[in-house]
Amino acid sequence: MTLALDILKKTFGYDAFRPPQDEIIQTLIEGGDALVLMPTGGGKSLCYQIPALARPGCGVVISPLIALMQDQVSAMRELGVRASFLNSTLDFATVQSVEQALLNGELDLLYIAPERLVQERTQQLLSQARIALFAIDEAHCVSQWGHDFRSDYLQLSLLHQQFPHIPRIALTATADERTRAEIVTRLQLEQARQFIAGFDRPNIRYRIALKHNARQQLLRFLKAEHANDAGIVYCLSRRKTEEIANWLGQQGFTALPYHAGLPAETRAENQSRFLREEGVIVVATIAFGMGIDKPDVRFVAHLDLPKTVEAYYQETGRAGRDGEAANAWMVYGLQDVIKLRQMMANSQGNEAFKRVEQHRLNAMLGLCEITSCRRQALLAYFGDDRPEPCGNCDTCLEPVDTWDGTEAARMALSAAYRTGQRFGVNHLIDLLLGSETDKIIQCDHHRLPTFGIGKALDKNQWSSVFRQLVGRGYLRVDVEGYGALQLESHCRSLLRGEESIQLRRDTLKKVTKQQTKTALPDDIDVALWEALRECRRELADTQGVPPYVIFSNRTLQEMCYEVPQSLTEFSHISGVGQRKLDKYGADFLRVINDHINA
Ligand code: ADP
Ligand code: ZN
Repeated sequence: MTLALDILKKTFGYDAFRPPQDEIIQTLIEGGDALVLMPTGGGKSLCYQIPALARPGCGVVISPLIALMQDQVSAMRELGVRASFLNSTLDFATVQSVEQALLNGELDLLYIAPERLVQERTQQLLSQARIALFAIDEAHCVSQWGHDFRSDYLQLSLLHQQFPHIPRIALTATADERTRAEIVTRLQLEQARQFIAGFDRPNIRYRIALKHNARQQLLRFLKAEHANDAGIVYCLSRRKTEEIANWLGQQGFTALPYHAGLPAETRAENQSRFLREEGVIVVATIAFGMGIDKPDVRFVAHLDLPKTVEAYYQETGRAGRDGEAANAWMVYGLQDVIKLRQMMANSQGNEAFKRVEQHRLNAMLGLCEITSCRRQALLAYFGDDRPEPCGNCDTCLEPVDTWDGTEAARMALSAAYRTGQRFGVNHLIDLLLGSETDKIIQCDHHRLPTFGIGKALDKNQWSSVFRQLVGRGYLRVDVEGYGALQLESHCRSLLRGEESIQLRRDTLKKVTKQQTKTALPDDIDVALWEALRECRRELADTQGVPPYVIFSNRTLQEMCYEVPQSLTEFSHISGVGQRKLDKYGADFLRVINDHINA
């Protein structure tokens, strides 16, 4: 392990491993297999990069994220690691030269797309090369239940069959128990040691608010907390991403749309601007995400409800990979539920599949309506029970006011029941409020005993009651019946008066009092920070890489605090390895000296 530690210091410029990195690395160096589950930003890459450097031969990394490979390789080369990639974006001559480099033993790391790996040509190539290890990144793509399923991943079991003596490491940030079990069987990792580091992303603040005017809510959130930050805004439809991006542009933000219907060049261009420029907002459908390895995404906002808790966690997980404070912000309403239910009903797939989907949506709704800690609920969903509330989610920061909604819930349920479970929320509210609309009269509903019994609440309060009854599984939205609300069996005890229910009191808050800290600490020398960032930006431009490939924000911050004045002092900054010291030390020292002498 002294070799591994040596590489960590010299190449990466870090002082110590974050457990369980050391154990994982040791397992691989000794020739064993590993399955690694670590949250985003936990430091998975080092777990295969260091053993690849420590073992003889080249480490082969299988990754579905083709768009990322160039940046990953650039980042490795910046560290002095001999890295290359093979995917469909390369011309034949380049492919040949990469292959030759591998055969000549001139590569430390080779990134390969899964569809390429399973080709005969690649199998031939690998069988002639000296290979240090196989790393299977985003291993959850092997799961047919997940939404990132890649059929090529199913064939990766051939690695074990063809190269039984070469250690393999499978890595993922998103895998519940079932997916984990699937990874083990499909990749034949029965012998692998498992390292499950938990899911928590403590630096992400989760907030879910009631949707009333989504655009204005988003605008207030951005202006108050993220005026110059990079972030992602997720929407359900392609059209909406374009509308919102346009509109944010008019409000003075740099906002770009992203969805699968845009021309490939536009998508590539927008993604690359997001990665390379600072403070760009991407307004996207779920098509944007996989492979967005940008460490300083400060917020992820949802204007529409994700279909599952898994999707929510994965999408929000793109915020704050650098470990600095970040926001996961969402607004939602009953309309979202109706829209999603309709999409599901119209989707392909058999009844069993649709039932599973419905189940998953219910769990997502439960998370929205919960009155206790969101993080506890999220982690519990993934099988990780926390005894303490987190202190960094909206329900912890501003405890939810609840009220005894038993009586109101009973009225709402009987309104649905007495009208034959054939009507949507608006009609039921009219009924409870005693509004004599045309539809009420036509249906003869003004003669029902429920007519007008709910005047103690207003329209908004009733829609809150209905939303929460759906969210907690007492009512379901029937999509064949155009959004009719129907009773679920477990509302019986509520109707019979054997159960009571506490509902959250919806408030339309202006701006939350407790804002996230900006990423920049209060006591930092802002002028020096800006000067260092400018230096980083210029270097990044000349090299054609994203700024964080030069140095991370954390490394720049440490420079601000330590104010190194010699190359030796500079080398002690975390994130400064030998190669970057040689390449950039002088440039940054000059900036620091100019600053001191100014
Ligand atoms: P993941 O792939 O798990 O999302 P990364 O491998 O990208 O995470 O690591 C996240 C960040 O943490 C990177 O900036 C990485 O350089 C840094 N990092 C990883 N391991 C260490 C360590 N032992 N000490 C300091 N920084 C580390
Ligand atoms: Zn909490």
